[in-house]
Amino acid sequence: MSARPTPGPHLLLDATLPDGTRADLRISDGRIAGLAPVPPGRERTAALAPGELALDGALLLPALVDGHAHLDKTFLGAPWQPHRATANLREQIASERTLRREVAARVPVVDRAEALARRMAALGTGFVRSHVDVDPDTGLDHLYAVLEARERVRELIEVQLVAFPQSGVVAEPGVPELLDAALREGAELVGGLDPFGFDGDVDGQLDVVFGLAERHGAGVDIHLHDGGPQGAAQLRAIAARTAALGLGGRVAVSHAYCLGQLEDRELDRTAQALARAGVAVLTNGPARSMPPVLRLHELGVLVFAGSDNIRDAWWPYGTADMLERTTIIGLQAELMTNQELQLAAGLATADAARALGVAEYGIAVGRPANLVAIAAHSVPEAVAAHPERLLVLHRGRTVLDRLNGPTAPAR
Ligand SMILES: [Zn+2]
Repeated sequence: MSARPTPGPHLLLDATLPDGTRADLRISDGRIAGLAPVPPGRERTAALAPGELALDGALLLPALVDGHAHLDKTFLGAPWQPHRATANLREQIASERTLRREVAARVPVVDRAEALARRMAALGTGFVRSHVDVDPDTGLDHLYAVLEARERVRELIEVQLVAFPQSGVVAEPGVPELLDAALREGAELVGGLDPFGFDGDVDGQLDVVFGLAERHGAGVDIHLHDGGPQGAAQLRAIAARTAALGLGGRVAVSHAYCLGQLEDRELDRTAQALARAGVAVLTNGPARSMPPVLRLHELGVLVFAGSDNIRDAWWPYGTADMLERTTIIGLQAELMTNQELQLAAGLATADAARALGVAEYGIAVGRPANLVAIAAHSVPEAVAAHPERLLVLHRGRTVLDRLNGPTAPAR
C-alpha cells in the first residue's frame, strides 16, 4: 500500500453485489454515481480504458467496520513481545503499564497506532472505533498520540475514539476529570470498565459515565467482563439509564460475556431491555463465553463485531482482518447456513456501521465509494474463507489495488 491513496477508478466492471446480482459501478467525486446491471452472458471487456477496472464477478462489499480496537495498545511496528501471564485483571493492568513504557521507549504509540490503522485499511476496513487508555498514569498522552495517528491516516480510514478508563472510573482519583478532558480534546465517546467487578460501585461509575455523555453529547461504550446474573443486572442498569437519557442508538456494551452464561428467561429479559433501550452489544468472538449472536438478533438486539486487542500486552493474537473475525465468530457460534453466514457478515458491515453511527453507509447511488472487492463470489463464501482483498477504495480513492498490481507511488 502506498503512503497515501491514489486517485481511484471511475468505473468498476462486473462486480457481484452482496445480494448476488452483478453490476457495473460508476464512481465520481468519491461517490457511487451509477449502478447498472450486467446483462447475462456479456463478454469480458478485452481492453480497459484508463480508470476502468474489471472485477470479473468478484464480490464487492461496503467497507468493513471494526467496532472495537485499541490502537494505542498494539505492539505492531515494534519487535515481537513475549506475552507476560498474570493472575488477575489488576495485575494485568499493572504489567501492561510496565510493558508499554518499555515498548514506547523504542517505538512511540503514534507510530504503532498508525501501523495498525494502515493494516486495517489495507484489509478493507473503512471505519474503526478505537478505545484509548485514559488513566492517571498516562493522562491524555495516548489520546493525543492516537489523534495524531488518526490525522496521518485520514485519507485511508475513519477512526472514532472512546476515552477508555483502563484503571477504573471511581477506583482511582482524577479519572472523571481526565475523561471529561478527553471528551473536550476529541474523543467522541466515553467508556467504562466493569462497574461492579472493577470499581465495586455500579451507580458510582455509571453516574460519571452517563453524566459525561449527557454533558458532552457523547456516545457510550462500556467494557463489561463481569459474568452471570451480576453482569446481566449491570446490562439492565445501563439499558435503564440509556432509556432515561434518550441515548438509544448511541450506547454499546463491549463483550458482555454474561449474556452467554444466563438461564433462558434471564437472557430474554435482559436482551429485551437492551433492544428496547437501543443498547448494542459488541463481540470479538471466543473468550470465556460469547453472547448468543443468533438469539440476540432474534430478540432485536443490535450486535456488532470488532477485533479488540491486536498483538498487545493483553493478547498476542490478532490480524486486524474483520472478515477473518466473522469467520472466528461464525465458528464459535456455529453459524452454518447461508442465512447465518449473511448475519455474520452483517456484524462487520451494516450492523457495525449502524452501531458506530456511520452516515451514508452501503452500496447505493449517491453514497460515498467506501468499497472492498474480495476474491469470492458470494457473502457466505467470504465469511467462511475470508479470502484475499483485491481492491479497497476509501471515498473513491484507491487504498489497495491487486487487480492492477501495486498502487502507484504517492505523488
Ligand atoms: Zn477492549
